[in-house]
Amino acid sequence: MEKINLSIIIPVYNEEENIPILYGEIKDSIESIEPNYEIIFINDGSSDNSLKELKALREKDKRVKIIDFRKNFGQTAALAAGFDYAEGEIMITMDGDLQNNPKDIPLLIKKMKNEDLDLVNGWRYKRKDPFISRKLPSMMANKLISWITGVKLHDYGCTLKVYRKDIAKDLKLYGEQHRFIPALAHIEGAKVGELKVDHRERKFGKSKYGISRTIRVILDLITVKFLSSYSTKPLQIFGLLGFITGGIGVLIGLYLAYIRLILKQGIAGRPLLFLSMLLIFMGVQFFSLGIIGEMLSRTYHESSKKKVYRVKRAEGFDSKKK
Ligand code: UDP
Ligand code: MG
Repeated sequence: MEKINLSIIIPVYNEEENIPILYGEIKDSIESIEPNYEIIFINDGSSDNSLKELKALREKDKRVKIIDFRKNFGQTAALAAGFDYAEGEIMITMDGDLQNNPKDIPLLIKKMKNEDLDLVNGWRYKRKDPFISRKLPSMMANKLISWITGVKLHDYGCTLKVYRKDIAKDLKLYGEQHRFIPALAHIEGAKVGELKVDHRERKFGKSKYGISRTIRVILDLITVKFLSSYSTKPLQIFGLLGFITGGIGVLIGLYLAYIRLILKQGIAGRPLLFLSMLLIFMGVQFFSLGIIGEMLSRTYHESSKKKVYRVKRAEGFDSKKK
């Protein structure tokens, strides 16, 4: 069997009209540059004729592969399944609704190769979606995510991306965290870039998201930030907090002891006494949390065989050892 060089991963949820057109566009765009590709469609519990359309394509072209979910698990799960099954050295994700343009695929790959990047993120610089419900929240989300994660991109929400295989395979996706992929890849040590891409209006079918997504994005952001900054050193963050709160508590306590023992004044009615006790308690709590965190982080890394490092290339070793 010939080696597959390119895997295109496409989540599909009720996109029956779009599927045949998308297939044609992908073929036109990449056949000439790379014939050894596979197109993996993940049918995410569609209730229309999407699966039938996909099967019809597979009849004609065995490079089309189908992962059929038992029910709707969401776009993040669909992408994760695609990464698990894909074999290509280079992986591409895109939407199944024709809003991304397959013409951009060769350009994204070229950029990744020329600049030796591990992930190139599409930037829908002329996004064709409603302003208030989609573009405005997304603009704010992009600013916030860039600022908090330190990976500065204009368009986290763009599904059109190219990845090197090992980065894509290393991604651990949970909940609805596909929009944080560049930040998660950055945690894995990936070099991330971006490229302006085309964006088209949705012609068939409906968008599956609305404004309600905003709050969930913020909660996911907290998780990602924690994972990126503290997951291997929880005691350092919680211990520091414990030191600060506990330390202030002890200082206040000493001051009160001075008043009581040296100046011989009563302290029973002083609010400061309660503050001191509260702060010392908090300090102990933070410390314990940090230590539990350290233990959890060990279980986490060992049970999932997750390394605390990522190797780009190791030379001179037996290839079986990995
Ligand atoms: N999608 C999916 N499962 C879902 C929701 C969406 O597989 O639960 C797919 C959908 O079919 C499309 C892509 O994810 O291919 C992006 O969805 P959509 O176009 O609705 O999002 P928008 O472009 O409006 O952000
Ligand atoms: Mg769309």
